[in-house]
Amino acid sequence: MSEIIIKVDNFGKCYGDFKAVDGISFEVKSGEIFGIIGPNGAGKTTTLECLEGLRMIDSGTMEVLGLNPWKESRKIKNLIGVQLQSSSLPDTITVKESMELFSSYHKVKPRYDLLSRLGLGDKLKSQYHILSGGEKRRLAIALAVAHNPKVLILDEPTAALDVKARFELHRIIKELKDSGTTIILATHDMAEAEKMADRIAILLKGKIMVIGTPKEITAKGSALTKISVRTLGNSLEGIFSKAMDEYHIFYTDKPGYKVMEIINLIESKEDVLIDLRVERPSLEERFLEITSLGGGI
Ligand code: ATP
Repeated sequence: MSEIIIKVDNFGKCYGDFKAVDGISFEVKSGEIFGIIGPNGAGKTTTLECLEGLRMIDSGTMEVLGLNPWKESRKIKNLIGVQLQSSSLPDTITVKESMELFSSYHKVKPRYDLLSRLGLGDKLKSQYHILSGGEKRRLAIALAVAHNPKVLILDEPTAALDVKARFELHRIIKELKDSGTTIILATHDMAEAEKMADRIAILLKGKIMVIGTPKEITAKGSALTKISVRTLGNSLEGIFSKAMDEYHIFYTDKPGYKVMEIINLIESKEDVLIDLRVERPSLEERFLEITSLGGGI
């Protein structure tokens, strides 16, 4: 059985009278990518900042690699990788110097290869303040992973990244996972969460609404499977379905049965099937269902 690397038990955090996180519990196993999704203000960043040892928790317990993040924050900082906020580096430091600074802090060799992979190879001499928003974010990611952390905590890492940088970051995340890094990924990008995360927690107003694999979460929804069919003739005219472009759209909770029924009908009318697509309900649809049931987003 995989080792538990992160253990959060009944964790709560208030800002004044406001309960930002209200007694949440979850565990993350070694080598897992654990996604946290939730609408704005759900408590994702607060949770991550407590895990990083940047904020003190108010109630419950939290352990990262067997350490208390707040009380043992010095030890934690060497073991985890965290994206910097954009204001954390001096304006005049260059991309190369920042990599050297971070590498010397962690006593590892500078990872110029990561800078190249993230499209900063020709920006080594550029000062931080002239970098674009997306470039600053790429640099933050390179610095977060340069020391091969045992735990990597990413808060919306692909926001503001262009398609190529996003693709490269996903590859880097997968490589880190394969080498045993445990990753927490908070994101607003449902497709990213569905593709990258082994398990996901949906957070809403400081509470966890559901935890599971993306498949488990989507399977529990009431959302129906969508079947889109295009035929040469008009065998599906008048059948209960919605027409969109040249497709007839069916929604069903029994996709296997429905597909057979549609094909039999097309054949019995000697029509020709051109295209048939079956789409399972997405995480996004399920997310909207859960978050609107829980009080709207
Ligand atoms: P987003 O998706 O918008 O980044 P989030 O899920 O990361 O949101 P948090 O940043 O954790 O949410 O904030 C949770 C709640 O706590 C929000 O309502 C926010 O306004 C509030 N909050 C966060 N930091 C503070 C603070 N320092 N003082 C007071 N309230 C705060």
